[in-house]
Amino acid sequence: MQTGKFDNLGVSYEEGSNAALLSAIARSAEELTSGKGWPDGVNDLLAALGRVTGVSRVWIFQTVEVSPAHITQNYTFEWASDPKYVQIGMSMFSMFTVTIDQPEYRSLIESRQRGEWQKVIVSQLERGYLHENLSTQKIKSMLTIPIMVDDEWWGTLGFDDCEREYDWNDVEIALLRTAGYLISNAVLRDRLSAKRKQFGILRQITDSSAWAYDFKTGQVWCAAELIHTVPMPMENYNLSLRSAIRLVHPVDRGPLFREIRDYMASRKNVFRHDLRVFTDCGDLRWVELIGNLRRNDRGQPEQFAGIAVDIRARKQEEDRLREEAVTDPLTGVLNRRMFWRELQKHVDGAIDQGDSFAVLILDIDHFKILNDTHGHAVGDGVLRQFTERCVGAVRGQDVVARLGGDEFVILLPGEGGASARAVGERILHSVGASPFAVLGQRLTVTTSIGLYVHDGALTTPARIVESADFALYRAKHDGRNRLAVASCCQTSI
Ligand code: GH3
Ligand code: MG
Repeated sequence: MQTGKFDNLGVSYEEGSNAALLSAIARSAEELTSGKGWPDGVNDLLAALGRVTGVSRVWIFQTVEVSPAHITQNYTFEWASDPKYVQIGMSMFSMFTVTIDQPEYRSLIESRQRGEWQKVIVSQLERGYLHENLSTQKIKSMLTIPIMVDDEWWGTLGFDDCEREYDWNDVEIALLRTAGYLISNAVLRDRLSAKRKQFGILRQITDSSAWAYDFKTGQVWCAAELIHTVPMPMENYNLSLRSAIRLVHPVDRGPLFREIRDYMASRKNVFRHDLRVFTDCGDLRWVELIGNLRRNDRGQPEQFAGIAVDIRARKQEEDRLREEAVTDPLTGVLNRRMFWRELQKHVDGAIDQGDSFAVLILDIDHFKILNDTHGHAVGDGVLRQFTERCVGAVRGQDVVARLGGDEFVILLPGEGGASARAVGERILHSVGASPFAVLGQRLTVTTSIGLYVHDGALTTPARIVESADFALYRAKHDGRNRLAVASCCQTSI
């Protein structure tokens, strides 16, 4: 086997030879693909081509816009063999618009749009627009190669000779066509890296990754971060639709299909849907799919693509708010609003089916002094432990809630007077029997309780709480740490 460096190949690179041109192109190809790229690699390519071909100037015009009547171009790159040939930066060449009113010029533009090369020996041109234009620039001969990107005329690579009437041969033109494609690839790479950069920024800000479904191939493409929690060597994946669906939580699959069907029928612009996907370690991750459907000219779906935004934080916040809407954040038992709803259900049940129930209202004794003496944090600890003791003294179906401050309420479904009283006595004992240990303090706490027992009379939640409250007031008045029973429909009024 023989190996070697490309530079040491035994080719004679005599100035102006095809081998020298080929070598210059090969070296620039390496530079453009492996390192420098846009724009330094392109500048180096022009310099290498200029030196090896012996022209006065190598340039690139970028086509900014073409319409039937006008063309706008920009002089973006140039190499000149001598400073006197430099034209880049001249106002006549930067972002200049030309009216296409000369047939000669129109056919030149149309030829470039078709991806054709042009060579010109100026002295052999008929007198006219092109002759005058090139003569003004002191050009004796010229070769232009179109730069095609995605089959469209992106720009022109030009070789101006202001010294020689050079007739380019076919091999040279064919080799320079390759140079044109090197520039096309550099344009594509530059576009791709700009898109990557853009997407990287978007991904960082929105915590999202991309996905796409191709209707023709039935394949789903997705960025690796959507599935993997650790960095992977592969940047993206191609999955069958079936494998992609398996990544979605089974419960979320039906709603997802329904949403997609509705979206496709509605012809809305943007699709949005929350769902859970499995990651590589089996965890579930909440994401919001934001997508858009692309159709072909005949209106048939072609691609459904978009991003998946990580919404774990939003979902946690939603869960927290949902929880907060029903529970008291300090003690974790139901809040006043939810208790009221529960009580209404039992009042309705009592009216409809004659169900019995009882309500205890509890208020900690002298809690204000405890708070003032030991501080709010100790007060909070007492409220939490007080709740625990109440919950510990009742059954699973009994409803404990905090009405606010140091006032609690317990709904006892199915309880008659005697058993409800027993529950109340049990709580009094549980609270008062042993001191509360909070933040290094041992505190003796007692509570007073008002008991309401439903006797079947028509009533409302408001009247029930009022009656129990009145009984509580009596318990306080009679010396605290005790239970008082409300007589039917007894109020403070
Ligand atoms: P009484 O025996 O008559 O019930 O006297 P009290 O001192 O307990 O009086 P009251 O029930 O009116 O006092 C309630 C106190 O509870 C007043 C307020 O400072 C305190 N409080 C209300 N909400 C909270 C809370 O979330 N945390 C703490 N630590 N204290 C609270
Ligand atoms: Mg109190």
